[in-house]
Amino acid sequence: MARKSKITITLGPATETPEMIGALIDGGVNVFRLNMSHAPHEWAAKMTKQVRAESEKRNSHTAVLFDLTGPSIRTGDVETPYELKMGDKVEFRAEGSDASIPISTTVNYPGMMNDVTAGNVLVVDNGALLMHIDRVDDDRIICDVRTPGKLGSRRHINLPGVRLNLPALTPKDHKDLALAVECGADFIAGSFVRDAAHVRELREAMEALEGDAQIVSKIEDQEAVRNIDSIIKTTDVIMVARGDLGIEVDFEDLPILQRRIVKRCHELGTRVIVATQLLESMISNPTPTRAEVTDVMNAAYEEADSLMLSGETSVGLYPERCVEALVRITSRIERSGGHGFGQNVILRDERQKTARAAVTLADSLPDARLVILTRRGVLANHVAMMRPRTNGIYAVTPTGKVCRQLSLTRGIRAFKMAFSSNIEETVERATEELRSLDLVRPGTPIVIVSDILSDHFAANSILLHHA
Ligand code: PGA
Ligand code: MN
Repeated sequence: MARKSKITITLGPATETPEMIGALIDGGVNVFRLNMSHAPHEWAAKMTKQVRAESEKRNSHTAVLFDLTGPSIRTGDVETPYELKMGDKVEFRAEGSDASIPISTTVNYPGMMNDVTAGNVLVVDNGALLMHIDRVDDDRIICDVRTPGKLGSRRHINLPGVRLNLPALTPKDHKDLALAVECGADFIAGSFVRDAAHVRELREAMEALEGDAQIVSKIEDQEAVRNIDSIIKTTDVIMVARGDLGIEVDFEDLPILQRRIVKRCHELGTRVIVATQLLESMISNPTPTRAEVTDVMNAAYEEADSLMLSGETSVGLYPERCVEALVRITSRIERSGGHGFGQNVILRDERQKTARAAVTLADSLPDARLVILTRRGVLANHVAMMRPRTNGIYAVTPTGKVCRQLSLTRGIRAFKMAFSSNIEETVERATEELRSLDLVRPGTPIVIVSDILSDHFAANSILLHHA
């Protein structure tokens, strides 16, 4: 049985060779992510080429996702890391100002002093250090250390619940975006997206460079959660970025937010990725913890489109075993069904209603397959979002790019095929392809749904046909 949940992994030193990339595609990876916070341009370009080459060898449509750093706050350079004790005072100051107390570092965002107030919590290095803001001046803040730990150079700072006035895209993001477009990225992710205007700004910047990637919006803080509906409606894909989100909200809220976001994405018809720490312990261990197995199971049960690994595959010891673990766990839960949020898709136009009708028909026929003839992939995404029960959902589309952009969509397998001017001929060719791959047997019912125009059929047609 084919697996429905798609797998996105992050490339890094542990996975950068062509052999490893090939093995990971064979193992089930659908999307490779390049984390621009760490990836030098030359390396990212090389990785894109390698993914394309290995993917082509296998006749697969593996996608490349460029993940932009976004407007994150980081500490400056410190000569030697500070060992902080409970109750130590730490200063964060604007670049160009002088230290006023012994433990002091700069931050890359001078506006921070205007955004925070005394009493706010400040978190350094993904939760490794907790502080309390005691005093705010024009060019510096003084914090009180609440958990001991090390403060090093260029550490990430989170300010839970604080509304930041950072720009949507930094100068570095613009440079990385240009590279992503140059490399023909299939997806471009914006980090710390806080509202729909940020999504539009990213899309417009990409289109100005003549890029044709789909936009992924990473939900990483409370403001994004507040604006979730408008972000979902403006973006192509949502990412539940649990690394930052899990710091920016109380941790007990995280699973509730994940579920709410995944559900809302279904209702509004936008694809969703669940990311970060799915198999964190496998960075150094060959098997997942029981809690991780349950977490992966939960994301697959919620019927997210894709699950994403970060450190597990970029720097971990067992990248292939991680992918195998995702395949095993998701395949297992898919056999026993899912949450069914796809029942709640809000049908806004005729195309979605056609998709619903096709899915209802296919689900009512034993062992049926769905075939979607789609030019841009929109109809295929609509069909997949209804979460049909069949394991055979095939998108037929003339371009490789659309095939790759469907590699993130739950349950879809895409085939690149030119459309004939005659729809019967296109259907016959698609059926032949499925037969040759043993995906249908003689007599298998195939529900074909299409919104392409042809000589004989109007847009939005449903056809029932037997292999
Ligand atoms: P990051 O984003 O890995 O780029 O921080 C994902 C997350 O925050 O979960
Ligand atoms: Mn993040």
